[in-house]
This record gives sequence, structure tokens and C-alpha cells, in this order.
Amino acid sequence: MSKNKKQDENEEVLKWLDEEDPFGLNEEDVFITFKCIDCGKEDEVPDFVVEEFAFDLKKGEVVEVVCPFCEGTMREARKDPK
Ligand SMILES: [Zn+2]
Repeated sequence: MSKNKKQDENEEVLKWLDEEDPFGLNEEDVFITFKCIDCGKEDEVPDFVVEEFAFDLKKGEVVEVVCPFCEGTMREARKDPK
């Protein structure tokens, strides 16, 4: 008994996904929550972007990004250990 065509196609797709990883599915995207100090809204910033910003920082400085809502300043939201 041979495999049907549909199954062959599925296997092709799975193989392609596995090899190329076109959507980055095998990599875990890490997002860091930033909170705007001006409007208080939160946004998720990919970890690698934050690292790029952090690269130029002097000691004691924190990463700041521009708020997409009000163009204010966003800083990493600290999780308060309450
Ligand atoms: Zn804002």
C-alpha cells in the first residue's frame, strides 16, 4: 500500500519547514515589556532590539525606547516582587 499524494505533500512541507525554519518557529522569541513613563502604556520589545540599545549604554543608564503611543519615553517594566 502506497502513501497517498496528500501525505507526500505534507511531508514535503514539514521537511521544508524543518530545514529552512522560514518563520523562526524553532527559535524562541523573547519579548521584554516596556512601560511608558509618560502615558503609562506598555509595549513588548524583542529581546535582541533591547540588547542593541543596551550596547551603547553607559554604566547606570537604562534602555529607553520611544513610545509608539505618545512618542514619550519607555523604560523596561520592572516586575515588582510584591
Ligand atoms: Zn507613551
